[in-house]
Amino acid sequence: MSELKNIDLEIFEAIEKEKERQQNHLELIASENFVSKAVLEAQGSVLTNKYAEGYSGKRYYGGCEYIDQVEDIAKERLKKLFNVKYVNVQPHSGSQANMGAYRAILQANDKILGMALDHGGHLTHGYKLSFSGQDYQSYFYGVSSDTETIDYDELERLAREIKPRLIVAGASAYPREINFKRFKEIADKVGALLMVDMAHIAGLVAAGLHQNPCDYADIVTSTTHKTLRGPRGGIILTNNEEIAKKVDKNVFPGIQGGPLMHVIGAKAVAFKEALSDDFIEYQKCVIKNCKVLADTFIKLGYHVISNGTDNHLLLLDVKSKVGLNGKQAEALLGKVNITVNKNTIPNDTEKPFLASGIRIGTPAITTRGFNEEDMVKIAHLIDRALSNFEDEKVLDEIKIEVIKMCKEKPLNY
Ligand SMILES: *Cc1c(COP(=O)(O)O)cnc(C)c1O
Repeated sequence: MSELKNIDLEIFEAIEKEKERQQNHLELIASENFVSKAVLEAQGSVLTNKYAEGYSGKRYYGGCEYIDQVEDIAKERLKKLFNVKYVNVQPHSGSQANMGAYRAILQANDKILGMALDHGGHLTHGYKLSFSGQDYQSYFYGVSSDTETIDYDELERLAREIKPRLIVAGASAYPREINFKRFKEIADKVGALLMVDMAHIAGLVAAGLHQNPCDYADIVTSTTHKTLRGPRGGIILTNNEEIAKKVDKNVFPGIQGGPLMHVIGAKAVAFKEALSDDFIEYQKCVIKNCKVLADTFIKLGYHVISNGTDNHLLLLDVKSKVGLNGKQAEALLGKVNITVNKNTIPNDTEKPFLASGIRIGTPAITTRGFNEEDMVKIAHLIDRALSNFEDEKVLDEIKIEVIKMCKEKPLNY
């Protein structure tokens, strides 16, 4: 980094401060993780210099022989990881992957049925301010108010009524296993296609700890930077050759120009890591840690949405226990070096910008090596902060304890 320091002190210092922030905070944002040094090295490599519009063997630029190797390796590893026939590793992000996938299988104004944002869905599943809610007629399903899990019977009723061209499964804030088989049965009954966006759970799927959507869906999209622990980016997978051809055309030249080859190189490294036994052990710990967190919060008297978790995240209703809204809880925990995000809970009475809950995830802290004992401690620290939100002395003590925990398990950068 000394070169950067010499040339641009402002950016160098901001990066150093961000590194220190990552070192000294408990990162509980469910969509974040820490990549390996190898992934970081590939992403910071000379691959960023190369223009490679097109696909392997069919590029619009010369000098792509090594670029082709990188992209071919990434694709082969990805196919193996999810046991799928066709993949595209070029989408710049999860949202781009969804746009590319939609354009491959939908016409403008087609009907799509996705999970409501305030029930855990993603912006790109039809929200009105997203391209997905503007280019397509979007409809929504959600969770049942008693179990707070996806109401598959209601989904089926809605699908029969709406007759969408596409049903979208997958979520950003849903703590339970998703039954992709059931989704496919419903899609088949109403003549709809099924897309699964596994952005959050891709790492769990890769480790064989969650139903694999590639076995059921017509098309699958994902990010690579969440539980999958790769660089920031997107991917599209399918077992359908015709859809695969349309995906390739719709990603390039449809919605993107040159691929980010440094990111594709880093994706390949992350896929190699994800194929290892260590990665399976890691994902088991992610889930175990999350269960311990959920159990501890329940013991402390909190309403944990759906009464627990099957995956890497949980939703905590802070409003009903301590009277703070999600925004206040997020800010308060930030003061004691615990990073979370506010989140709506099913049937939230607060506006989305305030929300009644927070979302807590274990992928990042598990990468750092935190274990079940640490989870009990973290749940108690969060509870203590929320219950003493006006007591600066208690908050200072919590912050000191958090920093101590972080120093014991430093990030390896
Ligand atoms: C994170 C996420 C995305 C979008 O990923 P970006 O890379 O931020 O565009 C899409 N779908 C789901 C379900 C997500 O959780």
